[in-house]
Amino acid sequence: MERALGHAGPVEQFGEAQAAGRCGDAFKNLDAARQRLDAGGGMAFPIGLPILRRHRQLGLAHHPLPYRRPAPCCQSHKLELSSMSSRREARHTPGGAMRITRVDHWLVRMPFTEDILWGSGRRIGTTRLVCRIETDAGISGWGETISLIANVPAVFADIVAPLAIEYPVSDVERLHRHVLGAGFYHHKRAAVMAIAALEMAMWDALGKKAGQPLHALWGGKWRKDVEAAAYLFTNEPAGLTERIKGFLDKGYETFKVKIGFDERTDIALAEAARNTIGDRALRLDVNGAWTPGTAKRQLEKLAAFDPAYVEQPLELDDLAGHAALVARSSVPIALDESAYTLADVGNIIRAGAADVVLLDPHEAGGLWQTIKAAAICEAVGIPVTLHSGAELALSQSAYIQLAASIPNLSLAIDTERAYLGGDISPNPPVLQHGRFAIPEGPGLGVEVDVEALERHRVDGIAGAYLDTSRKDWFPIKPAY
Ligand SMILES: [Mg+2]
Repeated sequence: MERALGHAGPVEQFGEAQAAGRCGDAFKNLDAARQRLDAGGGMAFPIGLPILRRHRQLGLAHHPLPYRRPAPCCQSHKLELSSMSSRREARHTPGGAMRITRVDHWLVRMPFTEDILWGSGRRIGTTRLVCRIETDAGISGWGETISLIANVPAVFADIVAPLAIEYPVSDVERLHRHVLGAGFYHHKRAAVMAIAALEMAMWDALGKKAGQPLHALWGGKWRKDVEAAAYLFTNEPAGLTERIKGFLDKGYETFKVKIGFDERTDIALAEAARNTIGDRALRLDVNGAWTPGTAKRQLEKLAAFDPAYVEQPLELDDLAGHAALVARSSVPIALDESAYTLADVGNIIRAGAADVVLLDPHEAGGLWQTIKAAAICEAVGIPVTLHSGAELALSQSAYIQLAASIPNLSLAIDTERAYLGGDISPNPPVLQHGRFAIPEGPGLGVEVDVEALERHRVDGIAGAYLDTSRKDWFPIKPAY
């Protein structure tokens, strides 16, 4: 690899010594290289990076470069390179690989304007992990991910950020697989959200370097704007009607209603929604609350309200059960919780388990994985849309960039934007008449207000699941 990149010298000596089983010689060569780099030989010693990369590939050290973690009490986590990286900044040449030199991240919580109720509890706000990468080209990139559970910031700080240091910014696929290979290939759901923040920042930096919005890098602008669905969270039909009217006044044409509370309430909510929205599109989200038997009965009743689809009627693991519903029900079936990773989507398609698939770049482990998952669905004529977890400006823009460029992302995207009590950007995506304008600036096309990040910074996650007003209650899947 180093030869192909035009590097020579101690890298080969190291590799040859290693191949010949002369490990002592191999380490001496490597140590010599590191000492020369440490002594300030960056400009005159262009093989420093590949040596350290080889060092990492061979597993000689988990973290190839020194970095400093904050004291546990510090809420703004940082990973900083030693002075070696600043020397490398001078080595960057236009056209060369742009590499990550620093990663910072913040955990932030944005309150909702009202509590929102769903089958898995009561949500009082959204907790997001926001990260910034800096590169040796002087270009920075921003990323964001959903952070409903505590493993997200932990995996980000302990695995994703250290691995990202020195990565070429273009190597989004390699970073994704590198994190999985670092112990998460059989715990993918624990890693994908943490990977997604960093990967989004890589794309933002790449777009800025290219001077292009991300949709221009992903096949071009397929649609001129992006429709958003009005998202409704309540278990009271009268309250639902009032809330829907508010969205109708704003021009929305697609409505998504959470059900999955109990059999009667589900039907009453669907009826109230249909009676209020006329012939506009109605989607109903069960969040896996039904048993297969309940699903058969409920779908037959709900067919009278002509839903565009019923989402995740059964538990997320039950692809065979969903395939049976797809085969027998006149109501289209969408899968959301079942469709995290690329392999999940492949299995859904193989099983014939969905008429519609909801993708989420945070749950897929990145924007690139989402594009690939959409292509799997496109190949068999299945439309996709995007799941919402209350995206702030960075993720919202990423969603719009995806929707702008993916042909079969032809359904209105979910968004909880109407409930956000604020944002972290001075120029968040513009939502008017139920449609998002497509950001045209380079990269994600939105900026970050670091003061807002600091203002909303938290050190833990609260109010994502369960319900403090029902102390002994917890969600059971399936529930009824
Ligand atoms: Mg859903």
